[in-house]
Amino acid sequence: MFSPDDTIVAVATPPGRGGIGVVRVSGPAAREIGVALTGHSSEFEPRHATLTRLLAGGRAVDRAVVTFFPAPHSYTGEDVVELSAHGSPVLLRTIVDAAMHAGARLAEPGEFTFRAFLRGRIDLVQAEAVQDLVDAVTPLQARAAFDQLEGTLTTQIREIDAALFELSAQLEASLDFPEEGYHFVEPGHAARGILAIGERIELLLADATRGRMVREGAQVVIVGRPNAGKSSLFNRLAGTGRAIVTEIPGTTRDLVTEVVDIDGVAVTLVDTAGLHGAAADIVEQEGIARARAARQVADLALVVLDRSRPLTQDDSDLLDGARAGLQQGSGSACVVVANKSDLPRAWSHAGIGVDAIAVSAKDALGFDELRAAITSALAGRERHRDAPAITNARHVDLLSRASAALRRAADAANAGTPEEFVAADVAAARSLLEEITGTRTSDDVLHAIFDKFCIGK
Ligand code: GDP
Repeated sequence: MFSPDDTIVAVATPPGRGGIGVVRVSGPAAREIGVALTGHSSEFEPRHATLTRLLAGGRAVDRAVVTFFPAPHSYTGEDVVELSAHGSPVLLRTIVDAAMHAGARLAEPGEFTFRAFLRGRIDLVQAEAVQDLVDAVTPLQARAAFDQLEGTLTTQIREIDAALFELSAQLEASLDFPEEGYHFVEPGHAARGILAIGERIELLLADATRGRMVREGAQVVIVGRPNAGKSSLFNRLAGTGRAIVTEIPGTTRDLVTEVVDIDGVAVTLVDTAGLHGAAADIVEQEGIARARAARQVADLALVVLDRSRPLTQDDSDLLDGARAGLQQGSGSACVVVANKSDLPRAWSHAGIGVDAIAVSAKDALGFDELRAAITSALAGRERHRDAPAITNARHVDLLSRASAALRRAADAANAGTPEEFVAADVAAARSLLEEITGTRTSDDVLHAIFDKFCIGK
């Protein structure tokens, strides 16, 4: 991985122009580089903002606010100097070059946070939360990430691990007296203790589907025959006039997408060409093929029907697909939408054999119900506004494996299997938990995590 001993520099603010741009320097030479960049003869007062000129190539290039954070009380746990200059990409590049000239090297993506992890300022869950917070596009994503950054998940995992530690100590104490069997802990008692701890893991996992949906977002594709009102529905949900609405069937030939916040889930809405058997030209046929492909990979399909007109064969085909999807479960989840409910109805819900949400895209009616149906179909549960504890697939996988190891341990204890086997499964569960927080983690995993970071974070 990266060498953790040299001094690194990067622009911490996003590319482009802004009022302010921040250059961050971290490492043993950070203080010296701060001095070289400012010509300051006196020491910087720790954690105090100092307005000073910045020098590059022997001349002043800007006035900036410089803050020095001495180790270990800094983001990385090392000496850090932050220079807040004017947010011009040319100027920031000049400052970075001057810092490199003074002995720093350009930071790799995520290297500041990686150093914070290496120096024990944060654990792996918190490091991942930093990136999630930066990536968040909905307030709920940001809240869930911030909770993890604050250490709420870390604390829960540590508590579970501490309980397991105590249990394994008892089991291992018994191992010293093999001929006497369960010496310090009675098997039934050990099994109950293990199961109780396993339940705490299961409780964390209970919200994992919604958590992953919150972190990763979902793809929702809008399908229906031409003129059912798909584009109008898309625009209502997206709150824009982005998809073209016309009375001529077949207007939406390509896929139009927009990311929309639906109850905290970042939903990529996909508007598609109308699905119908008799496509007029080759462009429209291509649009229909793309609509079918989008539906295959989507987490959810909104099947839009026009309630003001009799159902057609195309509608019936879509409904057949929806019914099959509903029977199969979330893999091909559907929400049926009866649009144009502002007009007199041409058919009733009872006649179609599935639940349908009545909306009017024209008059914005029924959209609260529709949003609730979308989140509930996506996350498999009712609307729920708290930030989920577990959002990351890596954590879900490790917790599930820890839970399985504990179930094996409890079964073994109940069956009176020698303690060493029970203890081995408890130990396996503990190492899985330690992989979550990064107490033990392979370089490959660290690479995979920090490679996704942006430079300067
Ligand atoms: P698409 O082909 O399925 O994308 O349908 P559009 O969104 O382009 O709408 C087709 C036509 O239906 C347009 O003239 C819309 O104004 C009209 N329309 C869409 N939604 C409603 C609705 O809820 N009520 C009424 N009365 N008309 C609607």
